[in-house]
Amino acid sequence: MTFDHADFEQLGQEMIQLRRDFHKHPESGWTEFRTTARIIDELEKLGLTVQYGPSIHVKEKMFGLPQPQILEECWQRAMQETNRPDLVEAMKGGYTGCLTVIEGALPGPTVGIRVDIDCNDVEEANDPKHPPCALGFRSTHANCMHACGHDAHGAIGVGVAKLLCACKDQLRGKVLLVFQPGEEGLRGAASLTAAGHFSQCDYFFGGHVGLLDGLKVGAVAAGGHGFLASTKFDVTFHGYPSHAAAPERGRNAIAAAAMATLGMLSIPRHGDGASRINVGTFHGGTGRNVIPARADLCVETRGGTTEINAFMEAEARRICQGAADMYGCTLETRFMGSAGCIVCDEPLVEQTIQVLSQMEGVDQILRDINFNGGEDVTTMMRDVQEHGGQVIELVFGMPLPAPHHNDYFDVDERVIPLAIRIFAQLALTAGDWKAP
Ligand SMILES: [Zn+2]
Repeated sequence: MTFDHADFEQLGQEMIQLRRDFHKHPESGWTEFRTTARIIDELEKLGLTVQYGPSIHVKEKMFGLPQPQILEECWQRAMQETNRPDLVEAMKGGYTGCLTVIEGALPGPTVGIRVDIDCNDVEEANDPKHPPCALGFRSTHANCMHACGHDAHGAIGVGVAKLLCACKDQLRGKVLLVFQPGEEGLRGAASLTAAGHFSQCDYFFGGHVGLLDGLKVGAVAAGGHGFLASTKFDVTFHGYPSHAAAPERGRNAIAAAAMATLGMLSIPRHGDGASRINVGTFHGGTGRNVIPARADLCVETRGGTTEINAFMEAEARRICQGAADMYGCTLETRFMGSAGCIVCDEPLVEQTIQVLSQMEGVDQILRDINFNGGEDVTTMMRDVQEHGGQVIELVFGMPLPAPHHNDYFDVDERVIPLAIRIFAQLALTAGDWKAP
């Protein structure tokens, strides 16, 4: 890569400022209106064509959308805070996120790079020892905080676009840059995937800052295991209310939900690998002497493979239906989000390690790490693999002053310019690789 050192230094500083801007104005899943508008604005200044709004999504696959009133309030807030109301207007209804394609001057593969941009439902620490407070970019939105580093991810994505645009003459093929909304709760990837954006990708890169304890900036993990597949769904049992003195006239929704809960927690462990189930919330009934007409559960399943998770989910749904039938209730289920497992492609892991091993600033390379979590980038990755492409997830190490999703979480900003260079270098090198 030939990119002037001083120019790169300046780009790094600009992207750190951009990260602080995202941090100060965090937006949770499907409400990233201002954030997306800022990203589009930056990309358009590079002369790139950006896709955004309803046309990039499949409405039926936009899982876990907030209540209409919350969407509206967040949209109004963004209209006040943005300098591009035209863009925020186009995203009304939750159509956040965007994509752009950087065309190289020479023929070659299509490389997908995905970053996520949503925040967490966390109230940020208000303590001068917390750097965003000391440096004046603490969240200005109540109960919203970038406590997972997706503010850095957004800035890294814009930085990759800037760097690659400056190196277009050396770029073979093209780079699809994806700014994904709604990663938290595993909600945003399905819609973009269903719209078919990723089927052309020969190589596809995901990445996350932090995640692993005890690492310094300069430590990078390429590939690994331990991303459990997961499905989130809500269940409602509808019964029929009656006087508690005449229960034979009613249908007891709490009885059905209780039976379903115990049944789900009794699903046998899976012989092929890890399996999990949780009924995290249980609400029902209206009064002491009323046969409860409604009960609601929040359920999630996990599995060491996509197949094991599918087994857990199918069993859970079967048990809910059985319990509803048993008590003469009806069942309503709402899919809220999901992610599959990551199986990184070994040839791409090798190529990536090769590139990393020659990069200045990378002084530790880890492989086959345990991710010990879930990410819905896997929904995109599975689609890429089904169309013959190869995928990998990277982790950019950094010291963690507090765990992810904690109110004292913070990003070591030196990771931003490094991650930009790594993604850009991988995209520029991909033309050398043997096609998958
Ligand atoms: Zn995250």
